[in-house]
Amino acid sequence: MRLLVASKNRGKIKEIRSIVEGSVKVLSPLDLSLDLSILEDGNTLKENAIKKAVLYFGATGIVTLGEDTGLEVDFLRGRPGIYSARFSGGGDAENRKKLLDRLGKTENRAARFRTVMVLALKDNWIECFEGILEGKIGREERGSGGFGYDSVFIPSGFKETLAEMSYEEKNKISHRRLALNKVLDFLERERERVEDL
Ligand code: IMP
Repeated sequence: MRLLVASKNRGKIKEIRSIVEGSVKVLSPLDLSLDLSILEDGNTLKENAIKKAVLYFGATGIVTLGEDTGLEVDFLRGRPGIYSARFSGGGDAENRKKLLDRLGKTENRAARFRTVMVLALKDNWIECFEGILEGKIGREERGSGGFGYDSVFIPSGFKETLAEMSYEEKNKISHRRLALNKVLDFLERERERVEDL
C-alpha cells in the first residue's frame, strides 16, 4: 500500500519512513514533484493536519497522512503549541534559544510533544490519531541528532535529550512513533476497506 506523507520536512519524512518501513510504501511530495503551499493557520494541530491531508489527497488521490506537531510547555501555559514552528520568527536554532530564555532558571520545566496525524482515505473519509511524549525542557542544548526542539527536550524516564539519543532510540519512544502505531493498527484493521480504495 502507498501512503503519501503531506510534509516537506525531510527530518519528519525520514523518521516516518524508517518507522513504517515494510508495512507501507511512503511517498513524499518531493518524490511526486508536488509543490503545494499550505497556510498552517488552523486553531488546533488537528485542523492543520486535516488541511494538509485533504489538500494532498485532493491533488493526488493517494491515501495521505497529514501531520502536525507542537511542543507544549507548562510554564508557558501550553505555548508554543501550534506556534512551535514560528515561535521566534526565525529557524529551529532561534526557537530553541527563545524557549531556553523564556524558561530562565525556573524549576517548572514540564513539557510534552503532541503529534496529531490525519489520514485522508477518500472524499469525506478521514481518520485522526494522536501521540504524546511527556518530558521536560533541559537547561541548555545537548546533542546533535534529530531536529527542531530535540536538543532541549528530555523525555520522562531518561537523562539524555532526544538529540543525544540514537535515531533508533528516539524512534522507539517518540510522539510520532506513538501516533504512527495507531495509524498502522488502523490500516491493518481496515486493510480490506482501504485496499479497495
Ligand atoms: P511542524 O509539525 O512541522 O509544524 O513542526 C512544528 C515545530 O515543532 C517545528 O519547529 C519542528 O521543528 C518542531 N518539531 C516537530 N517534530 C519535532 C520532533 O520530533 N522533535 C523536535 N522538534 C520537532
